[in-house]
Amino acid sequence: MGRLHALIILAWALVRTVVTNLLGGRRGLAAFQRSYAADRVPPVSLEERALLPLLGGCVACGLCDVGEGAARVRSGGAYAGVMDLMLASSRSMPDFDAAARSFAAVGDARLAELETRCPARVPMRQVAGFVRGKAAELTQLEPARAGHGRSAA
Ligand code: SF4
Repeated sequence: MGRLHALIILAWALVRTVVTNLLGGRRGLAAFQRSYAADRVPPVSLEERALLPLLGGCVACGLCDVGEGAARVRSGGAYAGVMDLMLASSRSMPDFDAAARSFAAVGDARLAELETRCPARVPMRQVAGFVRGKAAELTQLEPARAGHGRSAA
């Protein structure tokens, strides 16, 4: 029964999407923002889209976490190490405000040092910049979240 229910919901969503697209609705940036603001997902620019494949090269070796214990303690829980930032926190856009606080506990100068030991050449400062920029956009999404629920797909 659960499977049939899921299939009906999926089929209904498909029909609605096809009909809406045929009628010219829900297209473009404004439609994306209407649909995803409530999920805390800002749009990605063409430049950011080109950058994204370069940011995800972490191979989880852990080398960038060596020597970060004191910074982790000082952060009071905001910072769990650079590997966490490269591998997890920087990959969930709705949580980028928390990730930005974590990056603040490291700082770009330290990231520049750690980039030199990264075997995957992850551009850590660029990851930090992307996260900070999107975190700032999340702040701007807050009024949209307060005023509107997510529109139906
Ligand atoms: S040193 Fe580079 S590859 Fe290794 S965990 Fe850190 S970011 Fe990932």
